[in-house]
Amino acid sequence: MDTKLKQLCQTLQLDPASLGLVKSNFPFKAHADFIEQIETGQPDDPLLKQVLPIEAESQVHPEFSHDPVGDLKANPTPSLIHKYHGRVLLMASPRCDIHCRYCFRRHFPYEAQINQRHWDSALQTIAADETIHEVILSGGDPFTLGETALVTLIEKIETIKHVQTLRIHTRTPIVAPSKAPIDAFLNWAQQSRLNKVMVVHCNHPHELSNKTQYCLNAYRQAGFQLLNQSVLLNGVNDREDILIELSHKLFAQGVLPYYLHQLDRVQGAAHFEVTLQRAQALMETLRKQLPGYLVPKLVQEMAGEPYKTPL
Ligand SMILES: *Cc1c(COP(=O)(O)O)cnc(C)c1O
Ligand code: SF4
Repeated sequence: MDTKLKQLCQTLQLDPASLGLVKSNFPFKAHADFIEQIETGQPDDPLLKQVLPIEAESQVHPEFSHDPVGDLKANPTPSLIHKYHGRVLLMASPRCDIHCRYCFRRHFPYEAQINQRHWDSALQTIAADETIHEVILSGGDPFTLGETALVTLIEKIETIKHVQTLRIHTRTPIVAPSKAPIDAFLNWAQQSRLNKVMVVHCNHPHELSNKTQYCLNAYRQAGFQLLNQSVLLNGVNDREDILIELSHKLFAQGVLPYYLHQLDRVQGAAHFEVTLQRAQALMETLRKQLPGYLVPKLVQEMAGEPYKTPL
């Protein structure tokens, strides 16, 4: 068995034989900060479930595919995805600090697609299209780039006059806050002309800690508007009380809920799916219990649609 998984089971006092683990070409990965937030002796822990490769993943499901959101069709320039008006997504890094089992990019040909040598042509494409006002750094996770490479890239983006907003999609401040970029990155942010948005990805209130608080505070003080997206996941966060607590806790850490995603139907993730009916019932309760600004938008990404589709 994977030695990291073995260590994890030891740390959490779990019997690996009882977990139904499988070998996967998208191997187990989680940072110590995330593991610290998992309860010991709880095989059903909602954080643990997000990272354990289990047998259910090997079931082939005919309605689940390898590229459910059509990303491969939407990137004529390597590393660049231009699906929506006014904004482009630049895949800045092929890596993440965690391997989320439900991830729609688990089958994406990352290494071939995402490489710093593609950046110049991606930046030329952006510079040549004045309708692009916002550049979204995504991945993988852009925060897995070294801080120097990250700041170099952002400074290049900043020289393109028609770009007004830089958005960073990252899970690092939630799942590995102690390694999130701070020094050079914050220096850049404090003096940048760009509007700055950071969309973090937190699915469960247990993912938030003093460490995430510290990290998020630093970004907020440097001028980032902080938003959160979650994925609705069976057995992880598909409960009213959990989603309500998540919104309140995010707000206490300076983050507003943005999207609650219906799962992308990626092969290997079928066991995480929540029915649309159940999702809508959850949303109805959230609207009744939360102030409007703490209610995320329930959306799904449909291949070929010009925006994330509200459900
Ligand atoms: C999700 C996404 C965006 C951002 O969409 P918003 O609705 O603005 O958050 C942009 N480009 C791509 C390719 C996306 O998948
Ligand atoms: S951090 Fe995001 S991109 Fe990376 S595995 Fe998790 S969901 Fe996928």
